[in-house]
Amino acid sequence: MTVVTRFAPSPTGLLHVGGARTALFCWLYARRTGGRFILRIEDTDRERSTAEAVRVILEGMAWLGLDADEGPYYQTQRFDRYREIIRGMLQAGTAYHCYCTKPELDALRERQIARKEKPRYTGICRDRSEPRPGIDPVVRFRNPLHGTVVVQDLVHGPVTFQNAELDDLIIARADGTPTYNFCVVVDDMDMQVTHVIRGDDHLNNTPRQMNMLQALGATLPLYAHVPMILGPDGTKLSKRHGAVSVLQYEEEGYLPDALLNYLVRLGWSHGDQEVFTRAEMIAAFDIHDVNKAASAFNPEKLLWLNQQHMVRAQPATLVPHLRAQLRRLGLESADERLLEGVILAQRERAKTLKEMAQNSRFFFVDRIELEPKAAAKHLGADALPTVARVRERLADMPEWSAATIHAALNELATQLNSGLGKIAQPVRVAVTGTAVSPPIDATLALLGRERTLARLDAVLTKSAPGPA
Ligand code: GLU
Repeated sequence: MTVVTRFAPSPTGLLHVGGARTALFCWLYARRTGGRFILRIEDTDRERSTAEAVRVILEGMAWLGLDADEGPYYQTQRFDRYREIIRGMLQAGTAYHCYCTKPELDALRERQIARKEKPRYTGICRDRSEPRPGIDPVVRFRNPLHGTVVVQDLVHGPVTFQNAELDDLIIARADGTPTYNFCVVVDDMDMQVTHVIRGDDHLNNTPRQMNMLQALGATLPLYAHVPMILGPDGTKLSKRHGAVSVLQYEEEGYLPDALLNYLVRLGWSHGDQEVFTRAEMIAAFDIHDVNKAASAFNPEKLLWLNQQHMVRAQPATLVPHLRAQLRRLGLESADERLLEGVILAQRERAKTLKEMAQNSRFFFVDRIELEPKAAAKHLGADALPTVARVRERLADMPEWSAATIHAALNELATQLNSGLGKIAQPVRVAVTGTAVSPPIDATLALLGRERTLARLDAVLTKSAPGPA
C-alpha cells in the first residue's frame, strides 16, 4: 500500500506553527514511507477564507520546503464532484432531504434543553417521502442509529463514539452548497488518502466522517490526531506566544530547517537527539511514535536550535538567507566570498540571520558611523598613536589574511609592550564603529586592506569616516 497523506488547511487564519507542525508530520510520514503528500486548501467557508491566508499557506509551505506531490487542490473548484456524490447518496438512501425550518429546529432545540437533553436533530424527515412545498430542503446524511464507531487513532489509541450521539449531519445547505465535513470525506476518498494526520481538535468530526466514508463504500483511512501546541504558559497558543504566520519566522531570521527541527520535537522524540537535519528527520520519523500530550511552545529552544543549524550548515547554503536579511536593511552584496566569510565569523555570535545581518552592517556599508560611547572610550587622543602604528604596519604587509594580520598585531603588541586588546579595541571601533565584532584579525581580513586603511585614516584625520 502506498501511503498517501494530506495537509488540508482552511485559509481562514494565517498558517502558523501549529499548522506547520501538522503539515510537517504529514510530509515526513509520506517521505519516510516513499508515499505521496497532497496539499488541499479547504476554502469552502467563503466568508472567512482570504486570499492572503492562501498566499501564506503556499509561500509558507515553499519556504519550509514541504513540497507536495499533488495539489494544491481547492475545494471550491470541486463543487460539481460534491453535488454528484450527493445525488448518488440521495438515490442510494444514505442521505435524505430535510424540510425542517429554522423556527421548527429552534423550537426542537429549546424543548430538548428544557428537558436537559443534548440538543440534536431527531430525524424528523428521515422517512418523509413528499416534499414540503415552498421550502428548499437541506440534505442530511443518514447516520446509523445504533452501534458504535471506534476510531483506532494512531496517537490516542481507540476512541469510541456512540452512533446514538451523532445526529444526521447536514451535507448540503438549502442553496445546494456542500458542508465542510462532507467535502473532507469526498476528498479523502477521491484522493485515496491512507493516513489522515491532523490536529486533535478534529477528533470529534472523525466518527461522522467514518460513517460517511463507509456509506460511500470507501476504504477507511487510518487516523492520527496530533496534540495541540500550547503557549509556554500552558494556555492556547496565541499571537502573543508566536502563533504568527510562519513567514514571520523567515522575516525574523530563522532557518526553515531549524523551525522544522523545533516543530518535529513537539510530541515526538528519537532517543535524546535534539538536532536533526531534514534527512535525519525523514529517516527517524514515525507517526506511530507521536505522543498524545500537548506540548508547550518554547521560543528560547527555537532560538537555540536556529543557532545550532547555522553553526552546522555549509556557509554557502546560508548565503541566500543572509542576503535576504541584508536586503531588509537596505544592504546588497554580490561578493559571495565576503558573505561566506561573514557567516563563518559571525555565526557563533548571532542566534538568527537577522541578528547576524544587523551585527554585520559595517561589512556592507560605505560609511560607518562611530558609536559615540565606543569612540569616547577607545578612540581618545591617547589611542590615536597606536592606531597610527597599526595603520603603518598593516599598510606594509605583503599578504592580507587573518593569519598575517594576527601575526602583525601580535608583533606590534610586543613592540609596544602592550596587550593585544589595547591595540585591537581602538582598531575595532575605528573599522566597525562599535566595540563588538568578530576577532579583529578575521574582521580586518574580511573587510579588506583598502577599506581598513581608509577607516583608520578617517579616525586619524579626525574627520568623519569617508567613503571606504
Ligand atoms: N481544514 C481543517 C483545518 O484547517 C483540517 C481538516 C482535516 O485535516 O481534515 O483545521
